Amino acid sequence: MNSCKQHVFAAPPPVSERHVQALWYDGTLRPGDLRTVDGVPLRVVDPGVWNLEAGPDFRNAVVEIGTQRRRGDVEIHLRAGDWLQHGHVRDPAYDRVVLHVTWFNGGSAPVPPSCATVCLGDFLRTRTDFSPDEIDLAAYPYACLPATPRPCEGVFARAPDFLVEVLRAAGRRRLEGKARRLVARFMRTGDRAQVFYEEMMAAFGYKRNADSFRALAACIPWRELPTDRAAAYEALSCAAELEVARLVPWQRTNVRPANAPLRRLVAAAALFAGALPELLVRLSACDLASREGQLAARAILCEAGPLGARRAAAMLANVVTPFARAENRLETIPGWLCPEEVCAPMRLTAYRLLGRDHNPALYAGNGLLLQGLLQIHREFCLGVHPDCGGCALVQAAGGS
Ligand code: SF4
Repeated sequence: MNSCKQHVFAAPPPVSERHVQALWYDGTLRPGDLRTVDGVPLRVVDPGVWNLEAGPDFRNAVVEIGTQRRRGDVEIHLRAGDWLQHGHVRDPAYDRVVLHVTWFNGGSAPVPPSCATVCLGDFLRTRTDFSPDEIDLAAYPYACLPATPRPCEGVFARAPDFLVEVLRAAGRRRLEGKARRLVARFMRTGDRAQVFYEEMMAAFGYKRNADSFRALAACIPWRELPTDRAAAYEALSCAAELEVARLVPWQRTNVRPANAPLRRLVAAAALFAGALPELLVRLSACDLASREGQLAARAILCEAGPLGARRAAAMLANVVTPFARAENRLETIPGWLCPEEVCAPMRLTAYRLLGRDHNPALYAGNGLLLQGLLQIHREFCLGVHPDCGGCALVQAAGGS
């Protein structure tokens, strides 16, 4: 059994398509001396707008290939052949692609005739100062917004009451969306307890190992989890290595000790081993619409052991509260939630909305406002060009 625990995170760090997107977008990561696979010098004038909708990954990029300047879209793949596999060949949405960026070289891609290909892996794979693990994928594309004041600061920094109102609405929008997705899964699976268990497990994985924990919960459903805590931990840690690691590699670096997967598995085993039905009954008895009920529910989660009040608060906001809403036990998302830890995207969004010298007390004491920061980050900041041009939040708030 010990070998399971020792080797579970031993796989080499993989490069994903998302890594290649970040490498393309961020001029500080992208190699400067690029050439196309045909050996023609390539200069990136503008990487384009990160497209979060359907279609090419980046819109309206400007590149110089040899002496020719081209403006158009950029598509990112791990392998050249992915162009065909992803069905872009007959899709007119890809007709404007001027550059195909890949990680692996080799294999021909039936890209549009005027489209060049560059293989970033050829320039980075052998560099000893490069490791994909050092790229904070959650930081893209918003981290590339400049540190200078953003247009939203002009709207909100002097109107804190207005901002609180906007954050509350944004937080509710985020959690209502989670509740709707839970309802859809209830209908699809017919097993509410398993849906709850999978969502809680994903929350145990925190952002870097959420998918792996979710896969683990699917691999060992709650009904198959041993009722004894130690046995449940052994079952989870072995499945983590023997089955999950192959499917969804565990992230080992840039994970704080408190979020280390093995530590989280101990808490998951303690919370769920033979206790899920009872846990659901106890949480249902808490009046989550009130501050007292939120605090009582957080205390129940903290009984699991090495979890911490802030992480428990995050689970309460992201899973327990939307779950109650999905079950119609809440009429609306409550106006106050236990505050979780202020994570990097929340902090950055707050800086942008309020300026660097703002007082975090405005939002840090209410988990719903923190959820609002995340919603603004995802809904507005992620999808814009680095100059924030056309930010829909600013326009809706009456700014220019
Ligand atoms: S995208 Fe909008 S909300 Fe985000 S930093 Fe730019 S102006 Fe502010």
